[in-house]
Amino acid sequence: MSYPEKTNLLGLDRKGLEAFFVSRGEKSFRASQLMKWVYGQAVTDFRDMTNLSKALRADLEECAEVRYPEIVADQLSDDGSRKWLLRLEDGNCIETVFIPEAERGTLCISSQVGCMLNCSFCSTAQQGFNRNLTTAEIIAQLWVASRALGERLDGSRRLSNVVMMGMGEPLLNYDNVVRAMLLMQDDFGYGLSKRRITLSTAGIVPAIRKLREDCDVSLAVSLHAPDDLLRNELVPLNRKYPIRELLAACHEYVGDSRRRVTFEYVLLSGVNDSDGHARQLIRLLKGIPAKINLIPFNPFAQTRYRRSTPERIQRFFEILNQAGIVTITRKTRGDDIDAACGQLAGQFHDRTRRRYRRLSATQEI
Ligand code: SAH
Repeated sequence: MSYPEKTNLLGLDRKGLEAFFVSRGEKSFRASQLMKWVYGQAVTDFRDMTNLSKALRADLEECAEVRYPEIVADQLSDDGSRKWLLRLEDGNCIETVFIPEAERGTLCISSQVGCMLNCSFCSTAQQGFNRNLTTAEIIAQLWVASRALGERLDGSRRLSNVVMMGMGEPLLNYDNVVRAMLLMQDDFGYGLSKRRITLSTAGIVPAIRKLREDCDVSLAVSLHAPDDLLRNELVPLNRKYPIRELLAACHEYVGDSRRRVTFEYVLLSGVNDSDGHARQLIRLLKGIPAKINLIPFNPFAQTRYRRSTPERIQRFFEILNQAGIVTITRKTRGDDIDAACGQLAGQFHDRTRRRYRRLSATQEI
């Protein structure tokens, strides 16, 4: 006789957990009690959850568990960044990166095993796509990092921000990503304000519109080019959702609030980094509440691109800055341990054929 698999409680947001407890004949407030143990104290053994009745603890042991991925590598960069390689139950591996700064600590989380978007300058694209991460696998990255950093809900937190900027396109794993982001915000989860959670997307326009209704966290958009011709080449998804539609959705996303959309722009030598490109970018973003994040390109094996020189990056920055656009140049962090933007690779098996991936990126999404 086969038994049904135990429910992984990490995969349930507060509503889901409440429903779970009610279905077991318990009161819904058990959800917040359990969350305090799991997220606040990193306790996963039901026997240690002393404010639950003995009978409930025994029942939970029968039907549920808190399962998280195994840490198979834990690397520390010279600059203090830390990267964990996590092995999932199916053997696939994903990477999560912690980036400490003076006034905050940011965790960069993956949303998929691999990616299907094929951006030409991103190393994740070279690995192909395997599958979406479950809600449990997304929130577990925060759980594992938080525990490894010795976090407790006592106010002295090092982990203050989350960016959905690891492997994968978060808006192509919409439901699981939103559920995980709700847990990050929940007072009994990680209690992060939505300003401290940033979702980065290559620009899935309908999903940006939906996100505004469901979980309006800070939005970052990988723009990388000031016109469609060049963006089609760098971000093939642009053929499906061209710049004009993308910018309209971004504008709607922030509405009349005082929030801004962050536009990411990776600087590729001789490709998108001229004075002319900077001026085109200024014209393009006129009237849109925007910030620009310039990212020096991080090279990887077999790429045809090169990083722009520091002088070129500085000049590009100054042109934007002088036009009054809030611009920052992202510091390259963790590149000695391959933890910088676009360098996360994980280890997994590509189950799709390249041709199919290309089709799905440009036509079916
Ligand atoms: N799919 C999402 C999130 C993942 S990428 C997105 O496209 O936004 C996070 C950021 O790193 C994106 O802006 C991405 O374009 C950038 N990036 C990818 N490869 C890079 C590389 N080799 N060097 C620098 N930045 C890179």
